[in-house]
Amino acid sequence: MIYLDYSATTPVSFDVLESYNKATKDYIGNANSIHALGVKSKILLNSATKQICDLLGILEEELVYTSGATEANNMALKGVALAYQNRGKNIVVSKLEHPSIYKICEFLETQGFEITYVDNDSDGLIDFEDLKNKIRSDTILVSICAVNSEVGVRQPLKTLRQIIKKENPDTIFHSDITQAIGKVTVNLHDIDLASMSSHKIFGPKGIGFLYKNSKVHLIPLIHGSGKFNELRSGTPPLPLIVAFSKAMRIALNDIENKEMYVRKLNSRLCESFSSYEGIKINKTKYSIPHIINISLDNVKAETLIHALEEEEIYLSTNTACSSGDLSTAVMALYNDKHRALSTIRISLSYVTTDEEVSKFLNIFKDKYKMLNDLMKSKEE
Ligand code: PMP
Repeated sequence: MIYLDYSATTPVSFDVLESYNKATKDYIGNANSIHALGVKSKILLNSATKQICDLLGILEEELVYTSGATEANNMALKGVALAYQNRGKNIVVSKLEHPSIYKICEFLETQGFEITYVDNDSDGLIDFEDLKNKIRSDTILVSICAVNSEVGVRQPLKTLRQIIKKENPDTIFHSDITQAIGKVTVNLHDIDLASMSSHKIFGPKGIGFLYKNSKVHLIPLIHGSGKFNELRSGTPPLPLIVAFSKAMRIALNDIENKEMYVRKLNSRLCESFSSYEGIKINKTKYSIPHIINISLDNVKAETLIHALEEEEIYLSTNTACSSGDLSTAVMALYNDKHRALSTIRISLSYVTTDEEVSKFLNIFKDKYKMLNDLMKSKEE
């Protein structure tokens, strides 16, 4: 099997699974309970949380566990909207967001909020001047993805923060860092709110977090005892948290060297794709190397994906969450419907090997040729 869909999800690493199993077997108490078993679990919970926070340079009270990035995005956008609606009802978002952000925005529009879309240039970089112009006195929130999930464009969060805060110091800056964390360095002090999922960094599915700067106030989406966290009540999923903490430690270790390695794999793939007449690489100088997005001129993305699947090669159309749709990110970059219609995403990890890339390229060549010839014969 050749797995090239690491931006959709990653397999849980062996050490992470060991931590999960140990926490499940040896820590049966509810961390909210006051007896000895509860206290034992609480101590482990606190040390796992401390490790995540130390790695990210944040305070423990600034981290809220969620089921993943979708929930964290909801907690951030709806939580801010409810908490600050008396200050204003305008929210600014980019055109390179994950579908979950757009769905939340659609809902907020039904509740009387106004969503403004900020432009980007042809390299995918947020248009600084447009951002400046779109921030108003009633803009309560700006949400801009750190790394786009389809084409991997990375935004300069520090600069964006400076622009936002200069225009309106009260505007809260949220970033979905799900595709950035564990791949490139992210400084959470550049952001007020940040969402992510553990399963993108070889951690278990079903856990993620929202980083929340202490100065930001949110209205919770889930109400309950408030014992564990006022923003997200319920029994803490200790094994998931412990495993997530382990995954975070592994993911952030030696991150620069891992990125350099992935860059080499990326160059090999792009060099090969650029030799095909009917393929366009949707890449800009801001794309991270882990995500390679290509447009197919004459071949249907889904057909190619299933043809590769026959050889146990796994990758996605634009994203796992929007399969089959017109790629929003490719539209945002090139404003070209044809180019955005049939795209595939190859997503790499530091565990991807040179051999896998070689084998993939060989099989890709055969499958692509076969489908391209088939399409041409149909046209004739
Ligand atoms: N944001 C981004 C940028 C993502 O890539 C994803 C996952 N594809 C999500 C949010 C949603 O994450 P989850 O499905 O884990 O909630």
